[in-house]
Amino acid sequence: MSTIARIQSKLESSERRYIENICPINGEVIGKIPISTPEEVEAAVAKARRAQSSWRSLSVKQRADYILKVRDAFVERREWVLDTIRKDTGKTRSDAFLADVFTVVDSTTYFCKRAPKILSSTQIPLHFFKTKKSYLVYEPLGVVGVITPWNFPTAFLSDVVLALLAGNTVILKPSEVTPLIGEMTAELFASAKLPDGVFQVVHGDGSTGAALVKSNVDKIVFTGSVRTGKLIYQELGRKDRFTPVALELGGKDPMIVLEDADIERAADAAVWGAMVNSGQMCSSVERVYVMQPVAKQFIDLVVEKTKSLRQGTQDGPNVDVGAIIFPRQMEIIDGHVKDALSKGARVLAGGERNSDLLPGNYYRPTVLSEVDHSMKIMTEETFGPVLPIMIVKNEEEAIKLANDSVYGLTAMVWSKNLDRAKKIADRLEAGTVAINDCSAGGFGFCEAPWSGVKESGFGIVHSEEGLKSFCRAKHIIVDRGLMKREFYWFPNSEKSYNLLSTIFNVLFARGGKKLGSMFGKKE
Ligand code: NAD
Repeated sequence: MSTIARIQSKLESSERRYIENICPINGEVIGKIPISTPEEVEAAVAKARRAQSSWRSLSVKQRADYILKVRDAFVERREWVLDTIRKDTGKTRSDAFLADVFTVVDSTTYFCKRAPKILSSTQIPLHFFKTKKSYLVYEPLGVVGVITPWNFPTAFLSDVVLALLAGNTVILKPSEVTPLIGEMTAELFASAKLPDGVFQVVHGDGSTGAALVKSNVDKIVFTGSVRTGKLIYQELGRKDRFTPVALELGGKDPMIVLEDADIERAADAAVWGAMVNSGQMCSSVERVYVMQPVAKQFIDLVVEKTKSLRQGTQDGPNVDVGAIIFPRQMEIIDGHVKDALSKGARVLAGGERNSDLLPGNYYRPTVLSEVDHSMKIMTEETFGPVLPIMIVKNEEEAIKLANDSVYGLTAMVWSKNLDRAKKIADRLEAGTVAINDCSAGGFGFCEAPWSGVKESGFGIVHSEEGLKSFCRAKHIIVDRGLMKREFYWFPNSEKSYNLLSTIFNVLFARGGKKLGSMFGKKE
């Protein structure tokens, strides 16, 4: 080994930081992954930029053909993918299959098929300038940085897919909490042999994410906590050029159960919505407001169903509730429960860590009653298998309490009277409202936009709009050149002024409606 190589290797071993990841199921160390330095992030962005011009010059269909190979790799290597997700997150196999594998394979298939049409140029018929034609073309933004959380580490690859389909190159910064899944993602993409530099993964913690935000990427799509979302927004404001951003942040999603709801279905939904993915879901049912006349029936059913849930470390389909990602999250959940109990809440099920399953991070599925908004469990994101239920007098009180939150990701309302439910849905401050359903399923509807209001963030993922958000919509105006000059061009004159005035009067002054139709105006 040469002297320079020796020095480099010494530097490498002394300065390189690593992520050690620990399996939430049993506390064992299962991997050690090197953290990318800010210089490596810069180099990845430069490489992505070099790769972008040839990637964008492919047709959308050609790009889709590459991405479908990634989808095929997910399908063919499904068992390995599920094993990796399970090890890295402690999810049940069913949770990993439904939310991580099914959703990403479905949305990839959906958009690869439809993107060529969605991104084709769109005519814009002009209502007035009939001698001109106008249309939109969708150009890629350039290099997109995608920063993802640990709770659905592959579901958010849909952002990567949309960005790539639109002709951007992408740098993914997966969560440091699930680095094996980051490695797995890199391997799945590598098997599809995308051109070099089109998709890259940079590993690391907040410092790597911050380096990506500071770099000269052309868009950041961030999914994670409100705290980090705010830091990213501030950092982007400090840059010397505008960088578009989508922030998909936390939630404290309310469920309103009215006295005319199907109580059995509502109870099933509440338990599933609160406990699926061990409650570690931005759109979990985090709090319930149930009307007095049906409260006892609803609560009894919820408690019975919660107590029958199977929690365990074993693999396979016959487990309902998996592990919590790491000890810090266990402390947050337990802290919220203890805070509620100290202020008068009652535990109807669970209420503590599952010490039968030590040394893994398991919290017993929990139901609390006699809760109110002085408690963290009703106001802060708990992100655990805990369902607090509050009894309300009427729907006005339910709406007021549901909206009494800094968050606004999703909300749910339950009633057999759909007109009544729709009126309530209109008044709920949320990006998605589900009637007689769990709003979490909304993320699975890739045709529909997914977005929050208030501190749950902004920007759209999924849907046609989501795909187009990875593009610059360029407006092209074409004049057929039939007139020598436009009447409003220089030089200004009395004649041109009078003509403008006449057209204005014909179109908009009294009687203009009728005369307006002579100019092709329908109204
Ligand atoms: P987090 O904010 O701690 O981390 C998310 C990602 O940001 C990680 O990759 C992390 O390394 C990175 N990061 C941390 N500091 C950074 C910085 N200064 N600059 C750039 N990147 C940085 O969130 P988390 O704990 O991984 O995820 C849980 C949160 O995500 C919850 O609040 C949940 O509600 C939210 N979430 C929202 C949605 C949604 O669609 N709205 C979906 C899933 C999760």
